[in-house]
Amino acid sequence: MSYNLVWFKRDLRVHDHAPLLYASRNAPVLCLFIIEPSLWAADDVATHHYQFLRDSLLDLELALRKRGGGLRIEVGEAVAVLQRLWQEAPFLALYSHQETGNWLSFQRDLAVQGWCREHGLLWHEFAQFGVVRRLQNRDLWKAHWEALMAEPCLEPPVCDWIALPEPFTWPEPNSLGLLQPDLPLRQLGGRRQGIETLRDFLFERCGAYRGGISSPLSAPTACSRLSAYLAFGCLSLREVVQATRRQLAALPRGDARRAGLTAFVSRLYWHCHFMQKLESEPELEFTNLHRGYDGLREADWNPVHFQALSAGQTGWPLVDACVAMLQQTGWLNFRMRAMLVSVASYPLWLHWQPVGTWLARQFLDYEPGIHWSQMQMQAGTTGINTTRVYNPIKQARDHDPHGHFVRHWLPALRRVPNEWLFEPWRMSVKLQQQCGLRIGVDIAEPLVDLESATRQAKTRVYQVRGRADVKAAKAAIVEKHGSRKQPTRRRPTQAAACDWVQTQLDF
Ligand SMILES: Cc1cc2nc3c(=O)[nH]c(=O)nc-3n(C[C@H](O)[C@H](O)[C@H](O)COP(=O)(O)OP(=O)(O)OC[C@H]3O[C@@H](n4cnc5c(N)ncnc54)[C@H](O)[C@@H]3O)c2cc1C
Repeated sequence: MSYNLVWFKRDLRVHDHAPLLYASRNAPVLCLFIIEPSLWAADDVATHHYQFLRDSLLDLELALRKRGGGLRIEVGEAVAVLQRLWQEAPFLALYSHQETGNWLSFQRDLAVQGWCREHGLLWHEFAQFGVVRRLQNRDLWKAHWEALMAEPCLEPPVCDWIALPEPFTWPEPNSLGLLQPDLPLRQLGGRRQGIETLRDFLFERCGAYRGGISSPLSAPTACSRLSAYLAFGCLSLREVVQATRRQLAALPRGDARRAGLTAFVSRLYWHCHFMQKLESEPELEFTNLHRGYDGLREADWNPVHFQALSAGQTGWPLVDACVAMLQQTGWLNFRMRAMLVSVASYPLWLHWQPVGTWLARQFLDYEPGIHWSQMQMQAGTTGINTTRVYNPIKQARDHDPHGHFVRHWLPALRRVPNEWLFEPWRMSVKLQQQCGLRIGVDIAEPLVDLESATRQAKTRVYQVRGRADVKAAKAAIVEKHGSRKQPTRRRPTQAAACDWVQTQLDF
C-alpha cells in the first residue's frame, strides 16, 4: 500500500502540525524522524541537545501511539534514509515543515530537494513560523506575521497509519560523537513539559516578566522559559501567541500582568523577525552581515582570551558566574547573553563566529536564526544597530546588587564583602586572606584592564563605522533585513528610519 511520508524535524508535536494534517488527507501516513550523524558531529550541538530531543521524541511517539500510530526513527543521512524507505516501499509524497536551520541543515535540504526531483516526488513544505521563504522585501512582513498567527491552530488529524518495524534502539550520545555529560539542571524536553511551562508562565509567573527579565536572579522564573520548546517545536509559535492573547483578553484593564504579556508577545514576534534574517541570508552564520566589517577582529584571534571566557575564568565575577550557570543549566536570560557577547567582542576582542559556535553548543534553545543574528548584533557587525557595550561590573551592580547571583555560582567569593565582590582583584592581600580568597587561584585575575581595552575596542569599531563606504552600504542592509515601523508600501529611503526598533529589545 502506498503512503505519504511525514518527516518530523524541529516540529516535535502532533498539534498545529500542517504536514501531518495534509499528508493524512489522501493516504495512510508514515511518521519519520531521522537522527543525522553529520548534524550531530557539528560544533554547534552537544549532549544536552540530544537528550532534550530524545525526551521530545518519546513524548511525540506517545502522542502518536495514543492515536493508533507511531514514529519511525532512523539513523543515517537524510537522503540515504529516504532512499532506503523508498526502496522498501515507494511513497507518494514527502511532507515536512520548512526549516531555517544552520548551514548544514540548509545543505541537507538542498540535497533532499535534488533527491525528490530525481524521483519525481513532491515535497510539500509548510511554514511553521512567520518566516517567509524567498522574501522579496520586508514591507508587508509584519502583516504577514499577524495573519499567520491569527489562523486557527490545527487539531491533530485522524489518520490511517503504516505499521512500524521493531522498537527502535536509541544510539548512545557517544556513538554520535557527543562526549560531554548531560547538563545536571537542564529543562526536560517534550510537549507535556512545554505545555506545563506555558501554563505556569501565563497563569502564575507572568506578573514578574516586566521588570524581572534582566536580572539573572529573577529571570529564571520571570522569563517564560519557553525557548527550547519553541526551538524543538514541542509547541507551535502560533499556539503560544494565541494562548497569550486569550489570557491578555481575560485580564482586567490596569492589571499589571498585561504589560508583561504584551512585552512577551513582542518577543515572539522578534523570534521570527530574527530568523527571517538567516532565512534570507544563510551566510550570516559565517560572514559579517555588513561586509565592511570584514577583517575587523578575525585576524586578532586570541586563544588565551577565548579559553578564559569559555572556562568561566575571566576574573570578572558576573561573567564567570554566568558561564557557570550556563554550564549547569544550558540557559541564560537575554541581558546576560548580550553581556557575555559584549565582553567577548569588546574588551576581549574576539571574533563573534567561534564565540557564537561555543555559545550555540551551550544554549539548549539554540535556534540558528535568532542566535547568529543576535551574535552579530551584539558584536556590532550588522552595521544597522546601535553599538551596545555592556560593562560587566556595572551590570553586576545593577542586576545583582547584593551579590546573591555571583555568590551562588562562584562559591569561592561567598565571604567577599559586597564592596569588593565585583572587583575582587582590587582587595589588599590582607583582605584576601581574611576572606579566604586567592586571586589567580580561586578566581582569575582579569586578563585586560576593562576600561582601556573597551575604549580601544570601541575606537576600532567606530573607525569602521565612520568610513564612507561602510555608511553607504548600510541602506541596502536595512532594506533587506531591517524591521519596518509600520507596514508600508513605500520603500524606505533613510537607513536610520528603519533600524530603531531593533535597538528596543531590552527593558
Ligand atoms: C547572543 C544571543 C544569542 C541568543 N541565542 C538564542 C537562541 O539560540 N535561541 C533563542 O531562542 N533565543 C536566543 N536569544 C534570545 C533570548 O536571549 C532568548 O530567547 C531568551 O533568553 C530565552 O528565554 P525565554 O524563552 O524565557 O525568553 P522570553 O523572554 O520569555 O521570550 C519568549 C520567546 O521570545 C523569543 N525571544 C526572546 N527574546 C528574543 C530576542 N531578543 N530575539 C529573538 N527572539 C527572542 C524566544 O523564542 C523566546 O523563547 C539570544 C540572545 C542573544 C543576546
